[in-house]
Amino acid sequence: MLEKNDGFGLETSSRHSGVIHAGIYYPQDSLKAKLCVAGNRILYELCGRYDIGHKRLGKLIVATNDEESGELEALLERGRRNGAEDLKLLSRQELKELEPNVAGVAAILSPSSGIIDSHGLMQYFIARAGEGGAQIAYQTKVVGIERAAEGYEVRVEDGGGESSFITRVLVNSAGLYSDKMAELAGIDIDRAGYRLHYCKGDYFSLRSRQSTRVNRLIYPVPPSNIAGMGIHITFDLEGRVRLGPDIEYVDRLDYAIDRREQKLFYNSVKRLLPSIEYGDLEPEMAGIRPKLQEPGGEFRDFVIRDETDRGLPGLVNLIGIESPGLTAAPAIAEYVGGVVEERL
Ligand SMILES: Cc1cc2nc3c(=O)[nH]c(=O)nc-3n(C[C@H](O)[C@H](O)[C@H](O)COP(=O)(O)OP(=O)(O)OC[C@H]3O[C@@H](n4cnc5c(N)ncnc54)[C@H](O)[C@@H]3O)c2cc1C
Repeated sequence: MLEKNDGFGLETSSRHSGVIHAGIYYPQDSLKAKLCVAGNRILYELCGRYDIGHKRLGKLIVATNDEESGELEALLERGRRNGAEDLKLLSRQELKELEPNVAGVAAILSPSSGIIDSHGLMQYFIARAGEGGAQIAYQTKVVGIERAAEGYEVRVEDGGGESSFITRVLVNSAGLYSDKMAELAGIDIDRAGYRLHYCKGDYFSLRSRQSTRVNRLIYPVPPSNIAGMGIHITFDLEGRVRLGPDIEYVDRLDYAIDRREQKLFYNSVKRLLPSIEYGDLEPEMAGIRPKLQEPGGEFRDFVIRDETDRGLPGLVNLIGIESPGLTAAPAIAEYVGGVVEERL
């Protein structure tokens, strides 16, 4: 395993909401739907068995008017068809009983949504990989990929300069740079539809007060193009409340937060949580989604594929692994394992 940074998980995998999703939003039979539902089950099992920090808090998708309320039925149906079988539709009264501080006319309750210590999860993955014989080279950046007689010659740059090695199978899971990796291997990423668009999501922390207290993850009814799930209310494992992420397509990787966004966050969360005050919000952090979906474009699924039909057997590309990539991670690993085994 090659990693250009000094350690693991220093990019998107530590800049997210940390939510274990149930798989409600995604089109039926998409990889996002299937791998999210499978990943959800595997994650809870791993968390229980290996003592990885997590909380099965449950989540509410809250409709704040009749129009949104009408959309909940379709969302519920979609979620159930995807395999999120425990979803329940709540009336205004039932919502009020569960979350007195949340304003809404109806909601979907997803009991199997939760939060996870993603760093602890990555530590577990690294340890398991080590037990299985994997070696991890940090500060080692892939700078070239050439076809060789028996696979690929991979050129890397580390502290000592450039070197190369031959591998029969090459899995590209380079996150925000995975399209560049595919390009290094000789793929025309525009023709293949692999060009990534960076889509920033800011987070604000919310000062805790009795009148803004919530017990579950609180989400709005999502926008119809599902570029994101809408600014929601989440927690970390210590119980600190966080709002976000919003959606902003950007040209470069810059994680600075624009304080002017505070107004947008305040206005969108006030609909769900009327007692918040503007001064309760503080800029916290940002993450950047490696998105295949263009601004205003159609839904795009994860790309996870062996590139034999492009004349590149044994090259497995993982591109556009945005949300629910954390939830789906263990199911993605099994899926990629299957693809690789077919090659060997
Ligand atoms: C704002 C936001 C919120 C999210 N919220 C959630 C959520 O609540 N739940 C959920 O399930 N998912 C969520 N996600 C998605 C999830 O965080 C990602 O899908 C997941 O972290 C992607 O992991 P990855 O390993 O594919 O990518 P990364 O974590 O980006 O890892 C890729 C690694 O490849 C390395 N690399 C890149 N290029 C090279 C090179 N040339 N040579 C060597 N190494 C290289 C990088 O240094 C990096 O460490 C969210 C994402 C964002 C941005």
